[in-house]
Amino acid sequence: MMKKPGFGTRAVHAGRLKVKSVHSHIVPIYQTVNFEYESFDEKLRVSDGESDGYLYTRYSNPTIDALNEAICDLEGGEDAFAFASGMASITSAFFALTKPGDHVLASSVLYGGTYDFLVNYLKPWGVEVDFVDVWEPDVLESALRPNTSVLYIESMINPTVRVVDLPRLSRIAGKHDVFVLVDNTFTPPYLLCPLAHGADGVVHSTTKFIGGHGDTIGGIAVGSNAFIDKVRQIGRVHGGVMSPFNAWLTLRGLRTLDIRLERSCRNALRLAEFLNTHPKVRRVNYPGLPDHPQHDLVDSIFGGYGSMLSFEIEGGLDAVRKVEDGYRIITSTVSLGEVDTISAHPASSSHRKMSEEYRQKYGISEGLIRFSVGIESAEDLIEDVKQALGRLGN
Ligand code: PLP
Repeated sequence: MMKKPGFGTRAVHAGRLKVKSVHSHIVPIYQTVNFEYESFDEKLRVSDGESDGYLYTRYSNPTIDALNEAICDLEGGEDAFAFASGMASITSAFFALTKPGDHVLASSVLYGGTYDFLVNYLKPWGVEVDFVDVWEPDVLESALRPNTSVLYIESMINPTVRVVDLPRLSRIAGKHDVFVLVDNTFTPPYLLCPLAHGADGVVHSTTKFIGGHGDTIGGIAVGSNAFIDKVRQIGRVHGGVMSPFNAWLTLRGLRTLDIRLERSCRNALRLAEFLNTHPKVRRVNYPGLPDHPQHDLVDSIFGGYGSMLSFEIEGGLDAVRKVEDGYRIITSTVSLGEVDTISAHPASSSHRKMSEEYRQKYGISEGLIRFSVGIESAEDLIEDVKQALGRLGN
């Protein structure tokens, strides 16, 4: 019989074997750096890729794989790879798809971090970058060049919530062998599956709707096996992979994506209709309103009108300050896609670094407020907006 191990050994090993035999109903958090094998030879086979298995969590991990598989299924991709943030998934996708000498065409309205990366990091690396108003598909053909390798768009233009005619853009890009990469953060599956409309790859900030609870940062890239193989190589070397705990939180959020979006889209429509009749509101941007310029396009390719909306109030920044300080339920902060309703002021946050001329051109005035509508009771949200706008007087 083996001698009873010493205290130090027991502190390290006691309990491990018992836990290994438990079958968990929920995907467990495999909070481990490395994995164990039946034998030395099995370890070699896994290292050489001859046997399925896990080696080291920066390469792959069962909890992270469960998330990859789930997103892959919902987006309709062949494979997926999760990252520590949306930005890590975007930058890795670009490094996987471009090389110095290439040309990238990107939407002229983009998330600020992505714009920063394209202009201040991808360009100096030797990739030419041009920006086009992608919601006007006619401008695309003339902007393409023989060395254009990627067309990069966001599924919904922030903060004016315009959308792009993805099937049409993809057809044009496809004729020129250009890879269409879509940031689908604002319109996750339930609302839009870009791969089904001709896109070649999708990236997400899972920090937003997919995680949904404002408690975890993450990102993911989805697409064909060939695309994700390249992304995975970059991700492993670049090292910004998702942690098992964040993958677990993201998976937990994902399970209610369907019902969260159903409710938040319904709430967004109610709020948009209310705002549309308010005397202090000049303009409401929401695709669910029949006068939105792309109402029909959204009807034809989206599974709903989304839970993002923006509106412009009379009185500019001073009026915004009064309204934002007046909320009782709505939170005035940054970010989006959470269970609670978030109010943001794009001119002083996401679009602060853009020139006044740029903001004017793209409808981002000082009086513009953006809502990411949550799942609260619609009546309470309307009441809250009503009393906050009431602070502006008659
Ligand atoms: N893409 C979009 C459309 C975003 O709004 C954001 C962040 O707000 C990102 C990407 C970056 O995501 P993360 O903060 O998870 O890196």
